[in-house]
Amino acid sequence: MRVTLLGATGGIARGLRTVSIQVDDDLLIDAGTGVGDLTLGQMAAIQHVFLTHAHLDHLACLPMLADAVLDRRAGPLTVHALPETLDVLKDGIFNNRLWPDYTARPSPEAPWVALEPAAVGHPVCVGSRTVTPLPARHSVPGVGYAVEGESGSFVYSGDTTLCEPFWEAVNRLPGLRYVFLECTFRDDVSPEQALEWGHMTPRLWEKALALYQGDAEVRVIHMEPGKEEATQGQLKERLGGKAPRPVVAGEMFEV
Ligand SMILES: [Zn+2]
Ligand SMILES: [Zn+2]
Repeated sequence: MRVTLLGATGGIARGLRTVSIQVDDDLLIDAGTGVGDLTLGQMAAIQHVFLTHAHLDHLACLPMLADAVLDRRAGPLTVHALPETLDVLKDGIFNNRLWPDYTARPSPEAPWVALEPAAVGHPVCVGSRTVTPLPARHSVPGVGYAVEGESGSFVYSGDTTLCEPFWEAVNRLPGLRYVFLECTFRDDVSPEQALEWGHMTPRLWEKALALYQGDAEVRVIHMEPGKEEATQGQLKERLGGKAPRPVVAGEMFEV
């Protein structure tokens, strides 16, 4: 499995792109602004998009991804997400006001965008890859994802605060090579506030790593723009030699 982190931050600025993970040629996990680095040909090759939740930094490029390659695509672009996330897409984006309703064009029977409900713990097979939504705890309904290939797997947390069921699921995964785990805030945000807003802090990272029983490489993503140094400094203070390296946009992993 070839895994490319097209975007890995929680906001934009020059050189920074929000979260999107390309798996091989045909699969995307989240569709943040990192999608904008793909060529038209690469966009046309995307068949499935798995969304973690309905926040803009995770789906900003989805409407334009659908639009850019309508006439180059043989079948629909299938979007997998929780029913609550699909409702936001239908009501808030593909509503013929903010964007054309590609879920019913050119015809409701054969639309350009197909919406597929996903559920925590229910795997979806895409070719030789299996994508399983994992529990997450965010300010809106959300999931993480485990993606298993023929020779290994990786996990992406999506946006979540400390979530014990997530780590229970991660601990059961065979052949886990990488965990891409968010750290949106610093420790000036109290654990109570971070739990309410649904994000991680360095203090919560320490607790999360204590729940993890495996030896996959854990990498930090979704840091706030301009706060990367402070976030990493605090992670280092708390975790010492176990402090994670950040992912940079465009970084590629063979799994
Ligand atoms: Zn986010
Ligand atoms: Zn979010």
